[in-house]
Amino acid sequence: MILRTPEYYHSFKCIAEKCRDNCCIGWEIDIDRDTASYYKSITGSFGERLRNNISDGSFILGSNERCPFLNSGNLCDIYMTLGEEHLCSICTEHPRFYEWFGSFKEGGIGLCCEEAARLILSQDMHITEKMTAEADDTQCDEELLKTLLTARDIIISHLRSGNLSDSVCTMLSFAEELQYRLDNGETELPQWKLSGSTEKPDIRGLLDHFAGLEPIDPHWPEYLKSLSSAPDELPELSAEQEIWLRRIGEYFIYRYFLKGVFDGEILSRVKLAAVSIWFIGWLWRNKAADNGACSFEDCVWLAKNYSKEIEYCEENLEALADDSYCIKQLTSPGIKGLFCGS
Ligand code: SF4
Repeated sequence: MILRTPEYYHSFKCIAEKCRDNCCIGWEIDIDRDTASYYKSITGSFGERLRNNISDGSFILGSNERCPFLNSGNLCDIYMTLGEEHLCSICTEHPRFYEWFGSFKEGGIGLCCEEAARLILSQDMHITEKMTAEADDTQCDEELLKTLLTARDIIISHLRSGNLSDSVCTMLSFAEELQYRLDNGETELPQWKLSGSTEKPDIRGLLDHFAGLEPIDPHWPEYLKSLSSAPDELPELSAEQEIWLRRIGEYFIYRYFLKGVFDGEILSRVKLAAVSIWFIGWLWRNKAADNGACSFEDCVWLAKNYSKEIEYCEENLEALADDSYCIKQLTSPGIKGLFCGS
């Protein structure tokens, strides 16, 4: 099977104790069956420690929800004692993600990890391919897949160039038309026609909507609340920040758009990309208003926080997809209004 990934996927390396928001804190970590039985076979005091700190197939989290094997120097005792090859599959793979599409598999690294976010923001997405020994066993509609692959290339190429607001508004119109065609059994792609908006932006409404989602970090609701008093006039994004934001848009489209081959749903995924581009950019502009600047590291941090809240909670992703048809701020005109609203 062919594995397709952005080039930066291969450069990713966990920064371990240097990480400011370690993924071994605050998450339940399930241990795969093979690793769990290997841990059961370990003898001596470390074997006993393993068995005392695992229950129902997961590590028993300690105070502040720390993994019991994350030591005081924020290094992993399992890695140091048994070796990297004996980490469970979640710990080995995070923050990598994969999706299977018949004859090929796509992978990437998730924006929720600060080191991955650094790579996503700082490098253009060049897709690489390599052969793997994995069997080819996922069925999908090949004709629809071909259509969606072409549509995704069109969207990504437009996100890379031209005025970002225009590209996002046009991307939404293109996705609306494509969704309409797919719903009616057509697979011919619509034209990419420049589109704007006459909707008024409704930033407070969108903020209220995000505040209603399930928080992952306990500080997130308070942070969102503090943004409700943000001034209407904020510093514009710099040319560099706009490039970082385009790369974030590409990441969302690359990661989610093709999943439409399994359920025929592409519009809500495009809306997710559009609203994420806007919201992350808005967080950066607020930071610049408060601090006089929003550095690359600030941008990485804020994009990572957003991703952690939205992408790494299945319920939040589902709520956004469902609400994108009925909550005014998440309909296509509502989102376009954020970018080009009068
Ligand atoms: S969030 Fe990323 S960099 Fe931080 S510990 Fe996890 S994998 Fe490593």
